[in-house]
Formats: sequence, C-alpha cells, structure tokens
Amino acid sequence: MSKVLVIGAGGVSSVAVHKMAQLPEIFSEVVLASRRRFKCDAIAKSVKERFGYDVETAEVDADDVDATASLIERVRPKLVVNLALPYQDLSIMDACLKTGVDYLDTANYEPRDEAKFEYKWQWAYQDRFREAGLMALLGSGFDPGVTSVFATYIKKHLLDRIETLDILDCNGGDHGQHFATNFNPEINIREVTAPARHYEKGQWIETPPLSTKQAFEFDQVGQKNMYLMYHEELESLATHLPEIERIRFWMTFGDQYLKHLEVLQNVGMTRIDPVIYEGREIIPLQFLKAVLPEPASLGETTKGKTNIGDIATGTKDGQRKTFYVYNVCDHEEAYRETGNQAVSYTTGVPAMIGAALMLTGAWRGEGVFNMEQFDPDPYMEMLNRHGLPWQVHELPEPLPF
Ligand code: NDP
Repeated sequence: MSKVLVIGAGGVSSVAVHKMAQLPEIFSEVVLASRRRFKCDAIAKSVKERFGYDVETAEVDADDVDATASLIERVRPKLVVNLALPYQDLSIMDACLKTGVDYLDTANYEPRDEAKFEYKWQWAYQDRFREAGLMALLGSGFDPGVTSVFATYIKKHLLDRIETLDILDCNGGDHGQHFATNFNPEINIREVTAPARHYEKGQWIETPPLSTKQAFEFDQVGQKNMYLMYHEELESLATHLPEIERIRFWMTFGDQYLKHLEVLQNVGMTRIDPVIYEGREIIPLQFLKAVLPEPASLGETTKGKTNIGDIATGTKDGQRKTFYVYNVCDHEEAYRETGNQAVSYTTGVPAMIGAALMLTGAWRGEGVFNMEQFDPDPYMEMLNRHGLPWQVHELPEPLPF
C-alpha cells in the first residue's frame, strides 16, 4: 500500500493515473499535481467516473525546486512519478533528493535552449541518489522504456549474444488532421528535426535528419516507410549492453506529415531561438505548438494501431538467429479505456508498471538506473496483464538492410 505523487497532467499522465486507479492494492493513494490544476481535476473526474477511485489534485510549477519540495513534504509520497516535460527532470530530481523520495520519469533531460537530449545530466545524480539510499528510474515509457526491456528479455531468454538491435516504432494511426503530433509538439518536432545517429562498433554515426528511409511491413498495420533517427535509449543501451555491435532506431512518418514538417522548417517555424515579434521575444516552435491541435484532443478521432518492437540478431547455442518482439496497440481501444489515444497509452502504461515494480520492491536499487539494468520478467508479465501484450517471432533471416 503506497502513496504516489504524479507531476504533469497531459496525455501520458492521464493514462498512468487511470491505470494506477485500477490497481488500488499497489497504488493506495494518488496525488496529481501540475502547472494548471484544472487539467488535474479533469483527469481526477474521469478516473472517478470510470473506476470510482479518488485522486487528490494540486498545482505546482515543477521548474521551482522549493515549491516542488514543499509539495512533496506535504504529500509525503513513497515515489514521485514525473510525467511533466523533459525540461523538469532535474528540478524534480533535486526536489526528491531534498525530501528523500524515490523518482521515476519517461524521457531524459533536455535543456530548453538546445535540442539535445543526453543522459549525462541525469547520470550525474548517481552518487547523490546512492548516498541518500534513494532510487531514480529513468525512461519508463515505451521508447525509451519497453524497448529496452524487450532487449534484455531477448538477451535473457532468446540469444546468448546480441550482435545487432533495431528498434522499430510505427504509428499507423490516422487522426484526420492535416498536421498534428501525437505527443507534445515541441518535444516531438525537436526530436524529429535533429540529425540521425546510430551506434556501430563503438562509434556514433551521424547522418542528416530523415535521410535514411526503408519500407517495412508491420503486423496489423501494413507497409510503412520508416526513417533512421536518434533516440535516447540508444545511449543507455550502448552503455549497459556493450556487446551489441550495432543499435539503430527507426520511426515511421507519413508523406503528409513530412511535407508539412519540411515547409514549417523551411519557413523557420521550428526554430527554438528567440525572434522579436511586435516588440517581444517569442520562440517560433512554442508559437507553433500553440496553434497545433492539442495531442490530447486527437484521441477521439484517431483510428488504427501502433506497432513498436525490437528486432535482434545474434547467436544461440552457436547458431545465428533473429527474433522480433513487439506490441500492437489499438488507438480506439486505448481511448475507450482511458480517454487517450495509443501514443499516450503506450507510454502511460509502462510508467505505471515501472512505478508498481518500484513500490513493490520487485525492482530495487540505490542510485540512478536505466531500464535495461533490471530483470525484464516482472515487467514483461505486467505488460501482458495491463493492456500492452507482446508477441515473439523468430524471423527466417536478419533484416536485409
Ligand atoms: P503533455 O504536453 O501532454 O503534458 C505535459 C504536462 O506537464 C502538462 O500537463 C503540462 O502542464 C505539465 N507541465 C509542463 N511544465 C510544467 C511545469 N513547469 N510544472 C508542472 N507541470 C508542468 O505531454 P505528454 O503527456 O504527451 O508527455 C509527457 C512526458 O512523456 C514528456 O516528457 C514526453 O517527452 C514523455 N513521452 C515519453 C514517451 C516514451 O515512450 N518514453 C513517449 C511520449 C511522451 P500544462 O497542461 O499546464 O501545459
């Protein structure tokens, strides 16, 4: 029986809290706080109507360490689940250290003024968390998150040694809008417009954004074009599973999305440096976010499925083998259960699972941890039971590209 404080009240938080409410034996009390309290109240109302579970709400600016620490002092949770934005990671970690409480998030820290996410800032908290006897679990979403758990599952059960690992993220959903992003537009566009990078034989190889394309047939979605990208789990996987020779990340994008993105980039709307408009500074990308549809509003109209998984090639008992582990998630089913589409669902469910494993002690350690540092089995078992069932297939041959 444990109390948690969830910070942030967007789509991912909404799913996580709806899921926690269905496991009152683990999440005895949930307090939900965010920048604007009315967003928390709307989630609490939906949770009460669907599951009869009471969520207490509060308002906090998580950029403010003292304000966040005061809230933690008042609530006295066993764990803080950070589902705000990557910008708040360090301030919430600082508040946890100040108050002696464990920490979990789904995305690694990114400074506001540079589109660069790296674990170095959060890994630098290792000694402070260890010395305080506290645990921080980083990246318990789908990717990063489940994709790292799939990799450790393959390493534990299917292959003696992984040589190559490809993470394939396909969103086959259609929201009926000309252009919209499925999660926070600012974070999403910063990620997509960054140069691609993959890991090969101890080196990082950089290529221009969206310049490497492959067609792939995704189960229950169909054929889609996917693009090589940099993604944060590549850094932690290369660190914690150093025997893997090549790690790549691919994401699908439709032609319509790419056409709009190209124009927005060409006209300067994706810039993150300030420009003067009518005498005051504005950041074009933040202005663009304000005019794009709210990701949460897409849930009602989105149809189709996501398919995210890992393809690993390596050796088992001296033989070369390739395995594909993936989950398929249906946007409409996710919406029926929680009022949110599958991109929020596939992140919010793993956030709840990571929190449950920390609260029950199934995953425990002192310091700062990434997902691939723990036993995958209890996590894989919870994925099957809580809405993200996975499948394993042996492929006849490695990827041809
Ligand atoms: P949203 O933008 O929908 O929600 C973010 C929430 O954080 C909003 O409620 C926002 O408040 C709140 N917030 C922002 N700034 C502050 C602050 N200073 N103090 C308190 N609250 C604040 O994002 P998502 O729900 O889509 O994503 C949440 C997180 O999940 C992000 O970090 C994202 O990168 C990550 N993510 C991870 C994925 C994975 O697979 N690992 C996939 C998708 C997302 P307000 O409502 O007032 O704006």
